[in-house]
Amino acid sequence: ARKFFVGGNWKCNGTTEEVKKIATALNEGKVPSQDVVEVVVSPPFVFLPLVKGLLRPDFHVAAQNCWVKKGGAYTGEVSAEMLVNLDIPWVIIGHSERRLILGESNEFVGDKVAYALSKGLKVIACVGETLEQRESGSTMDVVAAQTKAIAERITDWENVVVAYEPVWAIGTGKVATPAQAQEVHCELRNWIHANTTPEVAATTRIIYGGSVNGANCKELAAQPDVDGFLVGGASLKPEFIDIIKSAE
Ligand code: 13P
Repeated sequence: ARKFFVGGNWKCNGTTEEVKKIATALNEGKVPSQDVVEVVVSPPFVFLPLVKGLLRPDFHVAAQNCWVKKGGAYTGEVSAEMLVNLDIPWVIIGHSERRLILGESNEFVGDKVAYALSKGLKVIACVGETLEQRESGSTMDVVAAQTKAIAERITDWENVVVAYEPVWAIGTGKVATPAQAQEVHCELRNWIHANTTPEVAATTRIIYGGSVNGANCKELAAQPDVDGFLVGGASLKPEFIDIIKSAE
């Protein structure tokens, strides 16, 4: 009952020419219908209007971040209101690169999710452990604490997709095995069940991210609690279409 979701996180990549090329290639891809898969790509802020204008109507765009509250004197930030003003429907919040490189805390990420939702944005909220945390056996504690900071601040999960992205799998070519992904997705869904409502647990999409590619997506997609993907590197390449096709 959970519609498959495939997000492409372009991160801090691309020139105008490259972005146009990627969007054109995506437009030509033969993929399952919108009833089967929801497709969202996330270019850098400066390319959002361009990509939104180029993309076919069944593909949507997401920002990669937004400010934690109403805009104002916050040099360098982009507010949720601005995204709404530009008809950008989605925003990625709490990506591990922002948590770890830019120092965003669980609470700050939770505040951002709550504010973006309150303005009508849909949110891809990212969680995930580092290699050190996995090796010390604290994966689920880390993921639960990250999710708790969100759950404490929102009640309506309808417009939230949770992306489980183990940091050790991001950009490393070391994809989580289907069993590793399923284990965390299942435990995370159980956590959501215990801490929100059974309905939220049953309907919220939990997608996997970290070295997903055209070759490994099928087996991951077959896991019962893997409801889609958040793709980095491969979302800039033609194989992104193959990843979208793993929805069926
Ligand atoms: P890669 O697919 O490049 O590992 O990146 C995953 C990611 O961080 C998506 O948000």
